[in-house]
Parts: sequence; structure tokens; C-alpha cells
Amino acid sequence: MPNRPTEKPWRAVAAMTGIAGLFIVLGHDGRRVLQLLALLLPLLAWLAWPLRNPAVRGLRRIAVWLWVMVFALDGAARAYLLDAYQAAPDGALVLGAVANSNVRETSEYLSMHWRTVALWCAASIVGGACVWRLARHGRREPQRPSRGAIVLLTLTLLVCAAAYASKPWRRLHPLAFWTNWAQSIQTLRASWADEERERQAALARARVAAPSITRDGPSTVVLVITDSINRDNMALYGYRRATTPRLVAHQAQQGDRMLVLRNAWSADASTLPALRNMFGFGRPESADTQHLLALARAAGYKVWWMSNHDDIAIEQQHARLADVVDFVNRTPGRASASLDGELLDCVQEALEDPAERKFIVVHLLGAHPHYSLRFPTGHNPFDDQVDAVEAGLIEEGRSAWVRRFRHEYDAALLYHDFVVSETLQLTRTVGNSGANRAWMYLSDHGQEVGHGTDRAGHSPSTESGYRIPAVVWRNDQPLPMAKEIMQRPFRADWVGWTVADLLNIRWDGQQPGRNVLAPDYRWEPPALPLKVRSFTE
Ligand SMILES: [Zn+2]
Repeated sequence: MPNRPTEKPWRAVAAMTGIAGLFIVLGHDGRRVLQLLALLLPLLAWLAWPLRNPAVRGLRRIAVWLWVMVFALDGAARAYLLDAYQAAPDGALVLGAVANSNVRETSEYLSMHWRTVALWCAASIVGGACVWRLARHGRREPQRPSRGAIVLLTLTLLVCAAAYASKPWRRLHPLAFWTNWAQSIQTLRASWADEERERQAALARARVAAPSITRDGPSTVVLVITDSINRDNMALYGYRRATTPRLVAHQAQQGDRMLVLRNAWSADASTLPALRNMFGFGRPESADTQHLLALARAAGYKVWWMSNHDDIAIEQQHARLADVVDFVNRTPGRASASLDGELLDCVQEALEDPAERKFIVVHLLGAHPHYSLRFPTGHNPFDDQVDAVEAGLIEEGRSAWVRRFRHEYDAALLYHDFVVSETLQLTRTVGNSGANRAWMYLSDHGQEVGHGTDRAGHSPSTESGYRIPAVVWRNDQPLPMAKEIMQRPFRADWVGWTVADLLNIRWDGQQPGRNVLAPDYRWEPPALPLKVRSFTE
């Protein structure tokens, strides 16, 4: 037959299976690879069916292309998440983050991770172009198939039929899986929107526990929770760049009144679980667990929650338990909206409130990616010279863009130092001068910025993801064991026990062994998804 490409449907099927298989292998492992291949093949086998009508052949080509691309994109998305977070798309970490992201956060995320995302997009486009060319080679004319081909086709179709007959296999099909996934996101969002009942239950539990206040007189406690701060980047913890001059000055002036916990760790590498653990005393899932805010209110504190985050889940799970809730970052389009300094007026206002007992929670964005948005434009003193830190990064072979992220991260810390010290300064000076005052600062989790690997971002699989700062200041006389306390290992999911001590709250079920300030503190290492060399170095 003249002017017609020789018909090689089997070769095209093999080549397309190879391309899809490559993506499948990157995103799945073990038996799953074979299961997905079995789900992939039936439509490809269609290419062996003779179709004379060019229009129908065109449709077949489009259908086959879409089919293969669904598998390829599924593999690419999973491979990306595995590489970046060692997480599956339907794991709690990814579901929670996606359900909780708004447009602004998504664009910030993309502007930080665009290189990797672009790489996967490029791979998908190249794969897509190849598949489009190959999908042309479907059979046109009837041809007597060899016996071998019939046997092979029958066997393949039998395996595929078995795959589609089995529900657990069928559910792995990308179309089924991602439809389900989108539903889970919707369900999660709906459950957050309806947490009013949970909060009422938490308040009721707190009232039943009948917490009492063990110390007379007015009391003010400020809890500053920040985001994505790695203590290894703070001069306060010995970093070689002067990222925290104000906190260092506070420490020099306050001495042992200011306890810098040298060995502080988070038990989680992302915000939602970290905050759930902090406010749920490290076991938020058990039925009798108290919520720190509910307990403080039941004891007679007026509670504030002020936040620079724009976050539905945190608002519903924690913030709405407070008496006064202020999300300053809810106005879209404000240029300075993401700067934490916006909160300082709120802190001052709360400190000036005449209430006898005040518990003020301040939730900062800290150095949440994208780092360059976390400090005022142009305020980056670390990017114009090669210092010891930069030289060290070059020696360790860190790429130019990770080194640039490190500059920006450190600049974000320098601005952060200003905001955090201001909250401490305000706590020390504003409001009732006779009050018992305490201030605690810690991060929800750490951040990898070229410390252990050539990456920047949240990091569940390296120690940098968990190495946080934690600082306690009180206007009381320094504790006699201050020096020893600062060396104790500390875990953020137990912070509720320490804050309860600062609030001077007592109730049944208290565990002093978990309060880092207590004489009988008993350390237990948190279960992290990696091996930590030592919790005290
Ligand atoms: Zn966070």
C-alpha cells in the first residue's frame, strides 16, 4: 500500500508503556508498579484494533494520549511529593497543607519551588509529545494476527480484567485516586468549618477539670509562636551571622531571667500537627485531653489570639477558643500584609487591657517560605559579601540558589529578631507594673536551608526540620537551676505543661515531669521519622 506508514501498533504500545512506566516507577513502588501497568494496558491494546475511518482513528489517538498522560502525571505528582516531603498525596501532611492553602500561599509556594515544579512540567511535556507521536501508530487495515499475538493479547486482557475487577486495584487508577483525593480535601475543609462543637466540648472539659490559679495578684503571660525558624540560624544559639542582635542584647541584660533552651526540638515538621500537639499537651487525639486555651479560660484568664497567618484550620481548632481573636493578615492585596511587625500594635493593645489575668498568644509567620517576603524589601545585609557562612556553604557544595535562599532566610531572621524582641520589650514594660509577667517564644518546627542537604523548605526527613528555638522569660527572680534548665532537652509538643506553669494553673491530671522548668522534669525523646544523633548537641 503506497504512502502509508507501516503499521507497528505493538511497537507503539511498547514504547508508550515504557514512557508511562517510567513515571509510574518514579511515583510508586513494589507491587503497585505492576498493578498500575495492568490498569494502563487495556486502552493501549485498542491500538491493535483495525480502524479504517480516519475520524474515529483521530478520536482513538486523543483517547490513548489522554489515558497515558493521566498515568504519567499521577507518577510525576507522586514523585515530586516523595522527593520533597517523603510523603504520599493522601498522607495527613499533604492533605492538611493543600486543604489549608489559599491562593496567596499557593503562589508563594510556587515562587519558591518553581525550579523543581518546572522540571517535572518539562518532563511531562516531553513525555506528552512522545506519546502523541506514538499514538498515531494504531492499526488501520485488518490483518491476520499471528497466533502468538492472539495468545499475548488474550493473556494481557485477562490480567487487566482481573485488575479492574478487584476494588483495591481499581482504586489505584489515577482517575479514581485523584477524584477521591479531591473529595478528601473537601471533607477536611468542611470538618474544619464545623469545629464549633469541638470547641464547646473542650471548654466543657476544662470547666470539669476546674483548674485553679495558685498565685495571687495580676498576671500576664505572652506566648509567641513563630513559624519555620531553625535555631541553628540564630546568633542567640551561636550562628556566625549576626541574625539576632536584639535578643542577644536582651539576654545579656536579663541574665538567667531569660532561659534560652539550647536543645529545643519540635515533634512535627509542619504547622498543623505542631500546633495541635502544643495546645493539646502532646496527645491531642486522646478523649480526655485538655486544650491549653480552654484551660486558661476556665481558670479565669482573658485569652487573646493574634495572628499574621491566614489559616482556616488554625482559626477553627485553636484561635476561636480565645476571647479576642485578631487575624491581621486577612486583607488581600496589602503590600505589607505578610510582615509580622503588623502585629505589634495588637500586642500593645492587649497588654494595656485592664483585665487582671491575661494570656496573649501571638502567632507569627516567622520565616515561613517564601523567605524574601518575610522581611522589608531591600533589608538583606547578608547578600553582598562572602562571609564565613557563605564560604562554608560553597565548600559543602551547596548550589547557588540554596545559598541565595540562605541569605534571604537569614535576613528574615534579622527582621524576626526585631519583632520577637519587641514583643518581649512590650511584655516587660507595658501594662500593670505590679503584675507577674512571663513570656515564652518558640517555633512550630524548623527549616532546611542547605544545612544537611542541598534543599530549602520544610523538611520532615532531616534534623533541620525539628531544630527550633525556645526561650522563656519571667520577671521573677531567676530559678536556682536556671543554668541546668537551659541545657535540658526540650520538646515543643510538651510546651503546654510549661506554659501552664507560667500561668500558675493547677488541675487534676497535670504532669510536672513534662514541664521543662520543673525540678523533677523527665525527658523522653519524641518519636521522629528520622534518627537523631543526639538531642543534646
Ligand atoms: Zn509552619
